[in-house]
Amino acid sequence: MESCFVLPGDKVGSAEEFMPGHDTYVKGGYIYASTTGVVEIDQEHRYASVVPKANAPAKLQKGDIVVGEVIDMKESLIILSLAFKKGYEHRPLSDEEGTIHISNVKNSYVKDLRSMFGIRDIVKAKILDEKQLRLFTGEDDLGVIKAYCSRCLGTLVKKENALQCSACGHTESRKVSTSYGTGVI
Ligand SMILES: [Zn+2]
Repeated sequence: MESCFVLPGDKVGSAEEFMPGHDTYVKGGYIYASTTGVVEIDQEHRYASVVPKANAPAKLQKGDIVVGEVIDMKESLIILSLAFKKGYEHRPLSDEEGTIHISNVKNSYVKDLRSMFGIRDIVKAKILDEKQLRLFTGEDDLGVIKAYCSRCLGTLVKKENALQCSACGHTESRKVSTSYGTGVI
C-alpha cells in the first residue's frame, strides 16, 4: 500500500498495470481520479483507487471535542497528544498536540495543575482555537476520563470527590469529566 493526495483528473496509475478501483476512471490507457482524495494501490489485487477526502484525518476546528493523552506537564500548562476528535473516532489524529493552560482547566481558579491532571491521563477537551490548539476543560463533561495511579500505575476508580487506585488504594484528585470511567466520549 502506498498513498498520495490527488485532485479530480490527476493521473493515478497505468491501466495496463492496474484495474480502476472506486472513484477513478480510465482514459487513454491511464487511470484518473474522479474525486479529491488519497490514492490507494492494492498491490495484491492490482487495483488503483481513490479514497475520498472525507476519509482523510479529521480536520480540527474551534468548538470540536477532542480526546488526548497527557504527555507533559509544566508549571502553568499541560500538553496533550491528541488521539481523535469526537464523532471521528475511526480517523486517528497524528502528530497533533494541544495545550491546556491553567486558566482554561475550570471556570474557577486553579492553584495547582498537579491536582487536576497526571501524566498518561486521558483527557476530553474542547478546542478554543484550531491554530495553536489551545484547549479547555471547564465544563462538567470535560476533563479526565481515564487516569492511572502515580504510585503503581493501577487504574483509578471514581469515588465521590476523588479517584482511588484499584490496586494500592492511593487516592488522587483530578479535574474529572462526568463521563470518567464510562468509556463513553
Ligand atoms: Zn496505586
